[in-house]
This record gives sequence, structure tokens and C-alpha cells, in this order.
Amino acid sequence: MGTSRRDFIKWCSTGAAALAAGLPTRRAFARQEPEGTATATPTGPPTPAPTPGVPKDATPATAQANAAVSNELPFDNLEDFQDAQRGFVATLPEGIIKTDAGSAAWDLTAYEFLKQEDAPPTVNPSLWRMAQLNMNNGLFQVTDRIYQVRGFDLSNMTIIEGDEGIMLIDPLISRETARAGLDLYYQQRGQRPVMAVFYTHTHVDHYGGVKGVTSEEDVQAGKVQILGPDGFLEHAVSENVMAGTAMSRRAQYMYGTYLSRGERGQVDGGLGKAVSLGHTTLIAPTDVITETGETRVIDGVEIVFQLTPGTEAPVEMTMYFPQFNALDAAEIACPVLHNLLTMRGAQVRDAKKWAHYLNEAIGLYGDEVDVVFAQHHWPRWGQDRVLSFLKSQRDLYKYIHDQTLRLMNQGYTMVEIAEMITLPASLDQQWYNRGYYGSVNHDVKAVYQKYLGWYDANPATLHPLSPVESGIKYVEYMGGPQAVMARVREDMDKGDYRWAAQVMNHVVFAYPEDQEARNLEADALEQLGYQAEAATWRNAYLVGAFELRTGAPQPAGAGTASPDTLKAMTLPMFFDYMGVRLNGPQADGKTIVLNWDFTDTGETYILNLENSTLTYMAGRQAPDADATLTLTRATIDAITLGQTTFDEEVAAGNAKIEGDGQKLAELMGLLDSFSPMFNIVTP
Ligand SMILES: [Zn+2]
Repeated sequence: MGTSRRDFIKWCSTGAAALAAGLPTRRAFARQEPEGTATATPTGPPTPAPTPGVPKDATPATAQANAAVSNELPFDNLEDFQDAQRGFVATLPEGIIKTDAGSAAWDLTAYEFLKQEDAPPTVNPSLWRMAQLNMNNGLFQVTDRIYQVRGFDLSNMTIIEGDEGIMLIDPLISRETARAGLDLYYQQRGQRPVMAVFYTHTHVDHYGGVKGVTSEEDVQAGKVQILGPDGFLEHAVSENVMAGTAMSRRAQYMYGTYLSRGERGQVDGGLGKAVSLGHTTLIAPTDVITETGETRVIDGVEIVFQLTPGTEAPVEMTMYFPQFNALDAAEIACPVLHNLLTMRGAQVRDAKKWAHYLNEAIGLYGDEVDVVFAQHHWPRWGQDRVLSFLKSQRDLYKYIHDQTLRLMNQGYTMVEIAEMITLPASLDQQWYNRGYYGSVNHDVKAVYQKYLGWYDANPATLHPLSPVESGIKYVEYMGGPQAVMARVREDMDKGDYRWAAQVMNHVVFAYPEDQEARNLEADALEQLGYQAEAATWRNAYLVGAFELRTGAPQPAGAGTASPDTLKAMTLPMFFDYMGVRLNGPQADGKTIVLNWDFTDTGETYILNLENSTLTYMAGRQAPDADATLTLTRATIDAITLGQTTFDEEVAAGNAKIEGDGQKLAELMGLLDSFSPMFNIVTP
């Protein structure tokens, strides 16, 4: 009698089933995305979504495609299930972590449906398997003196036991989930002071919960050190400020944030179950790591750092613990194919560097490492297994990089190369290389973008008509919407959903009010979602289908930027973002020059509007400025957060304006506010 997957799908949680009888949780959707902070983006309170259009069942073509996956991959290899449960200590019996206000910051009870051993026809069996693995939650021992909290958020929090206290690596996304993780540790291992917190990189799922595990006061008092890679604060704040609203909206698609949980809805996030919905915080590092090989000894524990910039984040670092022969690979070696270009949008990542730093880690630690763990998913134990994993991940990114360039140099274009490249079986058959978060297809496109950009060099594509204009023309040339839809239905009967979605997109952009057309495209996207192995692709397809059927949910009022991240923005970032908000056409012909004098930080700026363009110069004041503003940095932060207004602060004596005060009001009137819910699948 062998071990089967059924033996592992108990997820170390006992009490969750009792609560699962409730309705599927539909999470709020306007919030920060894990791979960065959309600092300047409005993030509203949790908002109820509208009643979704009813998802359909899998078609025979989809059921067949998903059934075929079961024969293509080594489902009888259960090592990941063993690793994901090894060292389990305890978890929260109820599976829910609440905010002070009583809403759920985290809720695993909505995923009880995953206890069904085999995938239903509406879910790719490979993704179903990962969705089950990511249900493992609680406190786990990795090795002597190293623990992890997993399944309490999208990411993991690692706990290192020092001589007197503990050190925490990556305190999750929300104050609430990080606190719950630390409390669980205390309950099991006893209360010990937090001596240090590490941020492995700049994404919010690796620092947002810091105020759940320590406080600004304790950090300022020197009781707790905060360490991160050089450039942490700047990149944590800036990576998504400039394009923050666009990234937030796009992130809803890849995480399926407001989809219902279920076998026809969101089943996983690829990196973890989902994004927690508590309070996001930030405390600036008190110490930064500037080069590979640097070490620190904290509370009797030696740590060796490796900087890995330009890989999964602009700045990132791995941490090696020689006393325990343990490597924390941060997020550069997770048991998935990661993305080289996140679907929410970001500056593209570097596959070559990624492979290089994995190779470097093998060289640095390969002779002695016994266990590798990361800030997502579960560890791998045993030197041989660790090495084969790291080598395989290295070769995964290098293969995608090199083969894309090889075909690029033979003249193939982005879409063509993405259709041509498949992994060799030696990489493809390893579960830890499967595309649950990235995918080979979109990672190839990322490599192409990195080297050559969007233009495929064919001048026929250099200046296409807009989607609406070309949609109207295509549909007209094809004999009108009814003629197109008749042909599309025939193709859908054959299972050709990719083409159906591509063509119906033209019809919907030509006739956005035509619900029949929208529903037909939704049907095609939905089947593509059901077949997708990547959680991110599934979520994107299903959100697209939802919005075509039902329309996009409306946000419940404008939120505000997180106070911690706003405070961490430099004034140049603040003025740069103001430039992004300037409505160029409305500013036509206007000239405004404002002096800014920040009395608390001693910084001065000239802000200059001309040619419909906003620029600034630091360290100067213009003698002929229209007005001079004197205030503190704290005052401008409060105004930006909407806690007060400039006029109120002037009246209270906290700000002063000399010269033509109307010019400031005029400039503010030229700034756009961004809607967090712009259209995506419709014009
Ligand atoms: Zn992460």
C-alpha cells in the first residue's frame, strides 16, 4: 500500500472545515500588489463586488485538454507534498486572520474545495496540485533554530533563533498576518525579543507587515535592527509609484483579487494562495548590505549575504547561515518558473543575471549547504537535492534567455519565438520548474522585450490603427458581427479558444455594448482560464470573462496612499509624480514658477511649469518666482494624504505662501486624478 496524494491534502489545519460552509469570500480588490508598492495609488477599503455572471462548466475540449495533463507530468512524485509538510509544528485552528475592524485579512476557509484529490475539469491538474500544496499553513521547522510561517499570506516569514532573541526575515504583506505568525511562534516556542528584521527585497509581500512584528519606537531606540539590500528604500517606494495606478488595476487580473474562490474561480496565486488584505506598513532599514560576501553576526548567528540585483527585484539579497548550512534564496529560487515580466507590468527582469546569481550561489555555498528555503513555498533538504534544484533553476532561466536570443538572431519575432520554445524534458518534467507564476511563453516575450522592445521591425506593424478603429474595420471586412460570431462558434466547438478570443476582441472593441459578443468572448476566455497551468493566466482569463459578462466592479470611493510609503518618498519622487499627473493639453500656454522651502529638512526646490511640462531644480530658489511656499515635509505629507488642506495649514500657521497664491491653486487644478478601475477588455 503506497502513499498517495490523498494522504497529504489535510493541510495541517483541523478546524477550517467548520467555517467553510459559509459563502466563498470575495476579497476587496483595490489594493497594493505584492510585487511592489503602488504607493501613489488610491487603495480603497474592501469593496463588495457585483454579482458575477455565472461561470460555465468546462467544455468537452477543455475537459479533454486537462485530462491529458494528468498523463504528461509525474503526478506520482510526491516529494513536494512531503517537503511542504515536513517540520510542521502547529497552525491556527480557524484558518482566518482578522483586522481590528473585524474583516478578514486572511481566510483559508474559502479554499476547502481543494480537499478534493483530483482536479475537476475546470482546473488544470498541475495547477490544482500547486493549489493544494499552497494550502499548507502554519509554523514549520526548517532546521535547528530556523522556522517559517507559511500559508498566512502570499509570502513566508522566516524566523531565526539567536542566543537571546529572534530575527525575522520578510514580515509578510500585512501587519495583521505578520502579527498572527509571530504570535503562533511565541505560542509554540516561547516569547523572545525580536532583535532584527530583514527585508530580502523591495516587494511589499516582503516588508508590508513589519509593524506587526516591531515598532518604529523600538527601531529608533536601537532595540531592533532593520536590514535590507542597498537601495532598498528607494526601490521599494519608487518601483511602482510612477505607473502605480496602471499596475494596481492590472494586478487585479493576475491575482484574480475579486474573483470568487472555487473550482470555476480563483484557486491559487501561484506564489501562494492570495494577497492578504490587512494594513501595509514600512519602517526604513537601519543598516544596508552593499556587497556580496558581507557578513553580520547578530545575536550569535552569522549571516553571509549575496546581492542579486536585477533578478526578481531591482535589489534583492540571499542570506546564508554557515552555522546551520542553510540558504535563504529570497525569491530567486522558488519551486516555480518565476516571471521575467510580471503581468501587472513592471520594468523587465534580466534572465541572464538571474541564472548568473544562481550559479554564483552554487559556487559560494554548494559545498556545504544542507537545506535551501525561500520566502515563498517550501524548502528542499539534502545537499544533492538542493544542488540539483539550484542547477535546474539556473538552467531554466538561462535556457529561456539563450534560446530566445538564438531565434531572435535568426529573425524570428516575439510571438513566433514564444510559440517555438519548449523546455527540454530534463527541465520541463521537474515540478519546481513549472510555470505557475511565470510561464515559458510570457518569459520568452520578456527576454525579447529586454533586448529588442515592442517593435518587431516589420513596418506593417509600426503604426497600426487603434484597437477600436481596427476592430470596426476587421468586423466590417468579415461581414459584420453576426457573420463573425457564427464562424467563432464553429471554431469554439473545435476547442480553438485562443483564436476565438482574438477575433471576438475585435468585435467587442467595435461593438462594446453588444452583450452577445461580450458573452461569446467571455466564454472563450473562461475555457482558456480553465486550461491554464499558470495561476496568473487563469486569473487573468477569468477576470476578463467576469468583466465582459458583468462589467468591472466600481471601487467604493477614493482611498489614500499608505502613510508609511508616502513618508518614504523623496521630494524628487514627489515632484516627478506631480509631473506624471499634469494634464499636458490643459497646461498649454501656461507658465508657473513656484519656490518650495521645506524648513524641517532644509531642502529647497524650484518647481517650473512651461511647455506643458513640469520640471524642478533642487537647492535653488528663483528670484522671479510667482510664489514662495514655506512648509514642512510632514505638512505636505498630511495634505497629500487628504488629512488637511493647504489653506487650513496656512490658516493654522503651519505653512506660508508669499506672492501670488492663486498660482499654486492653478497648478493643482491642472493635475489629473487617476481612476483605479479603467477598462481593459472593453474600450
Ligand atoms: Zn514575493
